[in-house]
Amino acid sequence: MGEVGVGGHVVLACKECRAPAQDAKSERVLKICSNCGMPLGEWATEAERDTELRDFEERVKQHSTPPL
Ligand SMILES: [Zn+2]
Repeated sequence: MGEVGVGGHVVLACKECRAPAQDAKSERVLKICSNCGMPLGEWATEAERDTELRDFEERVKQHSTPPL
């Protein structure tokens, strides 16, 4: 779930229709597909979400950037 977008920013994207994630109003911190509404990620707090997305971004960058 996710890919490198414009400018090297890693964004969550729906694996069904490739639409970007958007924030959903919920008791929990939730990201859903902006097109089909499929839940893409859910966290108890914004801090948890930020931590996980940062880790995810690091992994994607390591994977997509050849070693110098
Ligand atoms: Zn979708």
